[in-house]
Amino acid sequence: MVVCLLLSASTPPDFVSPSLFPLLPSPLSLSLLIPHSLSVERIRQPSMAAPSTSGLEVLLSTLKDVGDIESTLNILNVLDELLSAGSDRRIHYMISKGGSESLLMALVNTVDTIPPNYTLLLPILHLVAKVGHRDHRIGVKAEKAEAVLLMLGLLRQNLKDAKRAAACLWVLQVFCTSVSTAMLLGKNRGLDIVFKLIPMHTTKHIRTVKAAIDALAALLRSKMNCRAAVSKGYISGLLKLFADWHSNGTDCKHLPILRALLNCLHQAANTSIGRSSLVAEGGIALLFQTTKTCMFTRGMESLVEPAVQLMRKCYPKCPLPLTSALSAHIFPLPGRPLGTWDFIPGAQGDGFEDDSDNDVENEDAENRDYEDDMETDLESLRQRPEPDRPLEQLGQYVCLCPELHHDFQELDSGSETEESSDEDSLLNGDREDHCLMAGQGSPQAGQDSPQEHRASTQNPPLCPPRNGHTTPISRGEDHTAPEGEDKQNMKAKDLHSQCLGSHEDGHHSMVDRLLEKFGSCIPHHDPRLYAAAAANTRSVAGYSILAFPDFWGHLPPPGPEQMAVRRPNIQRRKVLEDIERFLCPEDIINKVVFDVEDPSPQCSSDHKLSLRFFSKFECGNLRKAVQVRSYEYDLILNADANTSQHHQWFYFEVSGMVANVPYRFNIINGEKINSQFNYGMQPVLYSVREALEGRPCWVRAGTDICYYRNHFQPSGSQRDSSFYTLTFTVTFQHDEDVCYLAYHYPYTYSALQAHLQMLQRSVDPRKVFFKQQSLCNTLAGNSCPLITITAPPSSRSWKDLHQLRNRPCVVLTARVHPGESNASWVMKGSLEFLCSSDPMAQSLREAFIFKIIPVLNPDGVINGTHRCSLSGEDLNRQWKKPDAALSPTIYHTKGFLYYLNSIGRTPLVFCDYHGHSRKKNVFLYGCSMKETLWQSGSSVDTATLKEDPGYRTIPKTLDRIAPAFSFNSCNYLVEKSRASTARVVVWREIGVLRSYTMESTYNGCDQGIYQGMQMGTRELEDMGAKFCQSLLTLRKSTMFYDSKVISHMPLLDDSLLDHKSHNCFVDDEPPCVEDIEYQSPMTSNLPGSDIDSEVNANMFSTEDEDKDEDKQMPHCRKNRHTDLKSRLYPHLCRPDSL
Ligand SMILES: [Zn+2]
Repeated sequence: MVVCLLLSASTPPDFVSPSLFPLLPSPLSLSLLIPHSLSVERIRQPSMAAPSTSGLEVLLSTLKDVGDIESTLNILNVLDELLSAGSDRRIHYMISKGGSESLLMALVNTVDTIPPNYTLLLPILHLVAKVGHRDHRIGVKAEKAEAVLLMLGLLRQNLKDAKRAAACLWVLQVFCTSVSTAMLLGKNRGLDIVFKLIPMHTTKHIRTVKAAIDALAALLRSKMNCRAAVSKGYISGLLKLFADWHSNGTDCKHLPILRALLNCLHQAANTSIGRSSLVAEGGIALLFQTTKTCMFTRGMESLVEPAVQLMRKCYPKCPLPLTSALSAHIFPLPGRPLGTWDFIPGAQGDGFEDDSDNDVENEDAENRDYEDDMETDLESLRQRPEPDRPLEQLGQYVCLCPELHHDFQELDSGSETEESSDEDSLLNGDREDHCLMAGQGSPQAGQDSPQEHRASTQNPPLCPPRNGHTTPISRGEDHTAPEGEDKQNMKAKDLHSQCLGSHEDGHHSMVDRLLEKFGSCIPHHDPRLYAAAAANTRSVAGYSILAFPDFWGHLPPPGPEQMAVRRPNIQRRKVLEDIERFLCPEDIINKVVFDVEDPSPQCSSDHKLSLRFFSKFECGNLRKAVQVRSYEYDLILNADANTSQHHQWFYFEVSGMVANVPYRFNIINGEKINSQFNYGMQPVLYSVREALEGRPCWVRAGTDICYYRNHFQPSGSQRDSSFYTLTFTVTFQHDEDVCYLAYHYPYTYSALQAHLQMLQRSVDPRKVFFKQQSLCNTLAGNSCPLITITAPPSSRSWKDLHQLRNRPCVVLTARVHPGESNASWVMKGSLEFLCSSDPMAQSLREAFIFKIIPVLNPDGVINGTHRCSLSGEDLNRQWKKPDAALSPTIYHTKGFLYYLNSIGRTPLVFCDYHGHSRKKNVFLYGCSMKETLWQSGSSVDTATLKEDPGYRTIPKTLDRIAPAFSFNSCNYLVEKSRASTARVVVWREIGVLRSYTMESTYNGCDQGIYQGMQMGTRELEDMGAKFCQSLLTLRKSTMFYDSKVISHMPLLDDSLLDHKSHNCFVDDEPPCVEDIEYQSPMTSNLPGSDIDSEVNANMFSTEDEDKDEDKQMPHCRKNRHTDLKSRLYPHLCRPDSL
């Protein structure tokens, strides 16, 4: 009675905070609580031995030595009451004080008495289940207390008593959190005993049935038990049980049973033998059918997700339909024998599956890895390493600073301008000022380069220009042409007659006519110039065909485009369609309609029932297309040259479509585990028909987009590695159009060349000093351009020349990762802004000398790779020790930076433009020694370290002036894994304080005025302009010479600055609405309250209550606080017990 008063449920749960918990009940109040046989002395004893001993510890130690029944019941009652109120923190506190051990000892002592006293035993069992459920070491503790087999024995004795059996099963279930305990039980026939407790559909003892299924699932956590269960035929048994309960329980009465059965199957499917058994027993077909029913039965929907995940798990893995995973592009490397390129690291495994019984407890491994990755060595953060090459080698870079040596004669002669080069110079391969000679890392100048050899043996011959062609393009001029005629002529083949190098009259006149009709609408783009530039571009496969969008140009659509809305359960629907392939293979066409390696003319064949695909053009990436169903295609991307991985970038042509029919495309060899395609991002589409009708736009397109793990498996990899599918549906507007689909807005190397030519022509040399040079040649012999932009001096006076030569340098680079085409659009924005007549641009040119390398990886861009250069390496991991022969662009960019450093012109700012595939917005990564030490929890006293906080100025400014920019996404940590990136090496080795990586999303923004919008090329270009504008804020502090130049400073005023409120802190995407990674354990597996509520219900049920079990199972927490006491310990409250 006293207990009821003192610790009644009316105590507000949070009043007893964990910190107060040790004091309640205090030893003093215990003297009131514990009746008769336990003397106050006995309770106080422990507290005298250890003064800090709490009341809880006293209770626990008393519990261990079971005294008389009533006082033990009292203690159990107190404990249960305390633990039931408030949060789990109390239980964890009790566990930390040895609660589990005390309960186990009480359990063992009680079972050992003959016969066991069940009045005492049941409350103990229930408490063990509740506490053990939160104690991840309960299994180990139970083994130590020798309670495991004792429990199994107790269960055996009570198979006929549903209530006692349920209590035993819950305890066994929590013991199995330790795999070794599960194994111990398995070895002692635990599986058989538990499995036999699961009956076919019944209405009796549902709670006990569920407890048995849950215990079986827990036993199956051990892979050894799984194998035993499979060999005993339990998988087929479980499937039969599932079918039976399902067919009898469509009114969702038995939902918990069905879920528990699915959980058992999930556990079994963690082994290969379990999966194949499930497939062999027709499990996939059964699950597929039941899932279809559940989808349309109210209340049964919650079964769909676990069933779909189980089907995905068991879907037999198969390799991609490729003869080799190695890229279709093989490029012989200087100094390396053929065939020494990489294979997927760690993929050399023999397919061995880890079926061993491991207790895996590495949940926070990822966090730990992240912290381990921080550079915490003060010396390596602070000290600048010795240059990686002798100083005398730097002389070769003198010519890359033409502004320092230019004599600016035009300032005297007035209107005299530099001769502008036209496309003829491009056609003849002329480039200005090749700085480097052969043997300086620009190999094979003038030699037979490997790709030429390849081109001559493997290229298809150039398509001949068609005579008197009625090409689609000329047809396109005729807007009144009847639809049928148009259709007939709109053939991809005809577009391909836009060949490189065919400069006969027919070709030119066609281009001219087109331009006459449609031209000049795209600023800074000239198709003739583009074709001329492309003729000099060297690809591994010797591309001779231009993709129409690159040739013709792109105009951004009128406004930013909304992110796509994800339809509910879209992934589930796609996965079920995939599973149907397995169940009904006869419905699958499986016809290869395009293969980049197969020269047979599939792609040009006129089979009416298939789409036609093509990708053999600059930046193109599509390796193979397989028609799966009438309107569904599996697409396989090519690996980066000389590698067997990095499938992400795609760009291909598709034609032969029927209008207004949804076509499903599946790119089936994605590697990343998640994608912005799950968060509103769409691929981009360009329609030739639309372009010729005056809308030459890449637009975001595609519906029903999602990205998920599929059943294709990388060759030679471990069992649990899989590819991912990006699926999207496109409904084309026009019949027989020629369309292009890409991962992101393409920007080819030839486009850059043409664009630079246009820029050079457009600038007024009296206002803009613009110089294009070649930094070096790439492996394939393409030039890596370096652009210098600044303002010419006002006069040739000493003073003005001196001002020019003292302007700080800003070095900008981009596109080291070829798949990050957004970086090129941002760079285009920067270049155009810096060359513009905008007064801010003028100020920038007067204040700085810009050194710009717009594409650090020309070969990768040209050949449609995603990450690497032709060497098969990520060039942004080569900066520490770049190889002059294999990574010439990095070697010489670094050399040039060393050179600037050596002449006292260390750049004020360095920024490398990138694209980010997993985050939204635009943001910067910088380098800060202090922030790195803080974040890593280093013991170094950072207060004594000096660091210029100037690295934050640009991100702060951008946050205010650039709508897409998010300051909160920026960070300034120096990670070991990034030690060889441009940002870190330029900071550490060249000593550039403001050294950044600028990441632009492929998707869109979740803050600011672009919130909910996808980025278009206009927004990306604007970002490039804004980055340059942000540099003006640095100028005040660096203006050491001529105050006159600051004239335009006030332009960066507050009206420009405060256009948006501050961002909320959203860094990473929330977990995807649908489970992309089905390898993770089922989340439905025993939420904490589940077992508690069932345990509680078990306490008060009488045998006949089982008949309306559906009333109590889900609702037993109702009215918890009002009648908990009387339900929990009826003997305490009933008048006769007083
Ligand atoms: Zn990148």
